[in-house]
Amino acid sequence: MSIYYTLSNGLKIPAIGFGTYRTPPGLETEQSVLEAIHAGYRSIDCAAAYKNESSVGIAIKKSGISREQLFITSKLWNDEKGYQSTMKAFEKTLHDLQLDYLDLYLIHWPIAKASKNNWQEANRETWKAFEELYEAGKIKAIGVSNFRQHHLEPLMENAKIQPMVNQIEFHPGFLQEETVNYSKKHNLLVEAWGPLSNGGIFQNAALIELAEKYQKTVAQITLRWILQKGLLPLPKSVTPSRMKENLNVFDFEISPEDSAIIDRVTDCGYSGFDPDNLD
Ligand code: NAD
Repeated sequence: MSIYYTLSNGLKIPAIGFGTYRTPPGLETEQSVLEAIHAGYRSIDCAAAYKNESSVGIAIKKSGISREQLFITSKLWNDEKGYQSTMKAFEKTLHDLQLDYLDLYLIHWPIAKASKNNWQEANRETWKAFEELYEAGKIKAIGVSNFRQHHLEPLMENAKIQPMVNQIEFHPGFLQEETVNYSKKHNLLVEAWGPLSNGGIFQNAALIELAEKYQKTVAQITLRWILQKGLLPLPKSVTPSRMKENLNVFDFEISPEDSAIIDRVTDCGYSGFDPDNLD
C-alpha cells in the first residue's frame, strides 16, 4: 500500500495524519507535535477551534523539517463563516502556525448556531473565499468536515472548485456508510477523525481477538482496517511509543473475512456530535 493518497487535484497527502484536538496549548502541544514529527508524521491535523495552533507553529519551526515535506491542515470555525470573516480567520491561522500557505483548509462543521437558518448561504459565501485562496496558491487543497450528503449537495451545486476532502467521525461501530459512499463517488477523500473512538475501541473483544491473531495491537488493527477501506485515519496520542505504533501499520494485511468482522463491531461508543445540531 502506498503511504500517500492523491487528492482529486493531484496533490499527495500522507496516508496517516496526526491529530491535535484536546491537546492543551503551550508546552504539551509543542512537545507532542515535535515528538510526532520525530516519530515520522508529516501530516498534522489542526483547527482554529483547538486553540493551540500557535504551539503547533512553534513545533513545526523547531522540528527543522522543511515546509515542503509537511502537510498542514486547518479548519475554519463555525462563528467565522462568511466571505470576509473567512479571509480574516484564515490569516490568523496562518499567522499562528507561522506559515505562508496551508496544504488543506476545511469548513469545520456544516451548520453553525449563528447561521442555522441560512447555513447553505453561509457555506456558499465561505466557499467563495476558500476558492479564491486556493486560486491564489495560499491553500493547496480545500474541503469540508462533518458534511453529510444533504450538506454537500448545496455546496457542490454552486461550487466553481469542488471540495477534495471530507473529514468525518469514523471508527469501528460508527461507519457513516451513506456519507462515505457519497463522498467517494464525488472524488472526495474521506478522512477518519476519532479513528480510535477516542479510546472506546480498546475493550472490544472482537478487536482484541484479531489483534492477537495478527500479532498487532488493537490500535494497529483498527488503523489498518481504515486504510484498507481507502480512508485516511487521524489518530491522536501524546505518548511517543503510541505515536510510532500508530504509524507502524504498513507491513500486514487484514483478510476480507476479518475486515467484515470489524465492520460488524458495535460497542465502541461515539462522540455524540451531530452535524445537524451541534450547538
Ligand atoms: P482518537 O480516536 O485518535 O483517540 C485518541 C485517544 O486514544 C488518545 O487520547 C489516547 O488516549 C488513545 N490512544 C491513541 N493511540 C493509542 C494507542 N496506540 N494505544 C492505546 N491508546 C491510544 O481521538 P480524537 O483525538 O478524538 O481524534 C483524532 C483527531 O481527529 C483529533 O486529534 C483531531 O485532529 C481530529 N478531530 C476532528 C474533528 C472534526 O470535527 N473534524 C473532531 C474530533 C477530532
